[in-house]
Amino acid sequence: MKTWRIAPGSSVSLDSLPTRSTDGAPGGKKATKAALTELTQQISDLQERLWAEHKQSLLVVLQAMDTAGKDSTTRAVFSGVNPQGVKVASFKAPTSTELDHDFLWRIHQTAPARGGIVVFNRSHYEDVLVVRVKDLAPEPVWRERYGLINAFEDQLRHGGTTVIKFFLHISKHEQAERLQARLDEPTKLWKFSANDLTERARWDNYQRAYQEAIEQTSTKHAPWYIIPSDRKWYRNWAVGKVIADTLEGLDPQYPEPTVLDPDLKIV
Ligand code: ATP
Ligand code: MG
Repeated sequence: MKTWRIAPGSSVSLDSLPTRSTDGAPGGKKATKAALTELTQQISDLQERLWAEHKQSLLVVLQAMDTAGKDSTTRAVFSGVNPQGVKVASFKAPTSTELDHDFLWRIHQTAPARGGIVVFNRSHYEDVLVVRVKDLAPEPVWRERYGLINAFEDQLRHGGTTVIKFFLHISKHEQAERLQARLDEPTKLWKFSANDLTERARWDNYQRAYQEAIEQTSTKHAPWYIIPSDRKWYRNWAVGKVIADTLEGLDPQYPEPTVLDPDLKIV
């Protein structure tokens, strides 16, 4: 986990962090896929214990440039987990009602309840990313949000929620290939949006915004993990590994059985 975790206060240079590395993988593609299958089983068991314990919860934040694979990572890591135990929340551009509230309003309502796991596909981080890059709010407004986000995530922790955050790091070249594949493949064409090209043109601005957001909000209790994501099998395994290890660290316990009448009979 240490390979990918950003220590609090460290400076982040995305350019010099790998996108194709397979550091720490249990083997090549085949062995790593097999290892992920084991991790999903482990996650499934831990999820059940988390639910039974009903004290703690887990929030997984996924952020990335388009095509980096937020959806497919979720699918790969949580396949095999009881669908009642995991919720996925996707955050699009805010509605007018949402815009009439503070930026964390819609986020807080979606945070996990005791015993639950929630995956954020995009998140409150959009409010310091797209908002900054597209100038949707003045700089002093989005800048103040780093502190607000840290305070909010700390508040979640007080309520028993562990927060972990992933940036799926792909190269600009890899994104070009994936966008092209969407154009070439009829069954993938629906995923293509002309807006992806507008956003791609802002690549450098997004990378800068990500760098600063990660630097300002990677904390001891709510760390960022930067996952090399050009190789999908490595990305899936790495995210699965961090989630499994984090849940293992929470060590959820089945509740103590209530003392039953020894003469109890089911009739
Ligand atoms: P994705 O690209 O995440 O796989 P999608 O293609 O289904 O999802 P999009 O409409 O492309 O849907 O993505 C959601 C859009 O909403 C993104 O462009 C994102 O930047 C934008 N968005 C999310 N949160 C905010 C926010 N707080 N303010 C402005 N825009 C936001
Ligand atoms: Mg999109």
